[in-house]
Amino acid sequence: MPPERLAAIEKVAERYAIAISPAMARLIAPDDPEDPIARQFVPDAAELAATPEEREDPIGDLAHSPVEGIVHRYLDRVLLKAVHVCPVYCRFCFRREMVGPQGLGTLAPEALDRAFAYIAAHPEIWEVILTGGDPLVLSARRLAELMRRLSAIPHVKIVRVHTRVPVVEPERVDGGMIEALKASGKAVYVALHANHPRELTDAARAACARLADAGIAMVSQSVLLRGVNDDPDVLADLMRAFVEARVKPYYLHHPDLAPGTSHFRLSIEEGRALVASLRGRISGLCQPTYILDIPGGHGKAAIGPDALRDAGEGRYEVSDFRGRVHSYPPDPAMG
Ligand code: SF4
Repeated sequence: MPPERLAAIEKVAERYAIAISPAMARLIAPDDPEDPIARQFVPDAAELAATPEEREDPIGDLAHSPVEGIVHRYLDRVLLKAVHVCPVYCRFCFRREMVGPQGLGTLAPEALDRAFAYIAAHPEIWEVILTGGDPLVLSARRLAELMRRLSAIPHVKIVRVHTRVPVVEPERVDGGMIEALKASGKAVYVALHANHPRELTDAARAACARLADAGIAMVSQSVLLRGVNDDPDVLADLMRAFVEARVKPYYLHHPDLAPGTSHFRLSIEEGRALVASLRGRISGLCQPTYILDIPGGHGKAAIGPDALRDAGEGRYEVSDFRGRVHSYPPDPAMG
């Protein structure tokens, strides 16, 4: 590696966590300077340059945190952030100021008690989303403990786990983890984060199969990233790979305004054009929802391309997947 690149990585390491799992390191093509896997995990000097619109808490977690470890942004659901450690550190991470060895760490037992007390005291909480960090870095024993505590709260019906583990450390998805995930007795959803079809290796697909066979529903989350998946073929292959692994495509995130990540960001117009290219090209099962997290903690908005235009007086123009425009309801004179 050239010395200036090494010096830049050292500078990035002073500020942000760095880690890449063996499974991801093996996927990197060493002679490809543009490798999309490397781009996600290998630090870049561009991370040292923050732009004025970027912010340390881009999606406004802190504005909606009534007690440590809980984010309560929407009425019927909360995030429970028990751990801020990940098996890999993504260079575009939206919580890059919170995760890693210098981040918010693991919730202390008393803080965890307060977080569970908050969930128990709010009967409107229907869904608890374990996130962080990556909750599947916890041992099976600690994960089972969290799940058992959730099982004791009757108004919580759904537990969702946001993770990269089945892709970046598929060997961790073993019988102990699966038993722990099922210990709540609730409906459990695993939201798998992956951004490039090469991440869905045979080992990753086998890990997803172990989860799906155990009755755990799976949905996907990806981030639209320049130089990683900003290509119609790559995006189509990624969404198909999810569906083949029994993971229903769910969210395709527009990249958040995290510090030092402008080299990953596309314009929203570019994003909408890419998402439009998926319509008709791949099955309806493969279509994700293109999402923007509104900076400041105002929640998510679907920002995908519009198929419908209001033409007034109860009439609409609707575009088909080839881009041809039709009237709705159809003009009777047109047959
Ligand atoms: S796994 Fe998630 S929380 Fe961890 S670094 Fe990547 S994006 Fe951030």
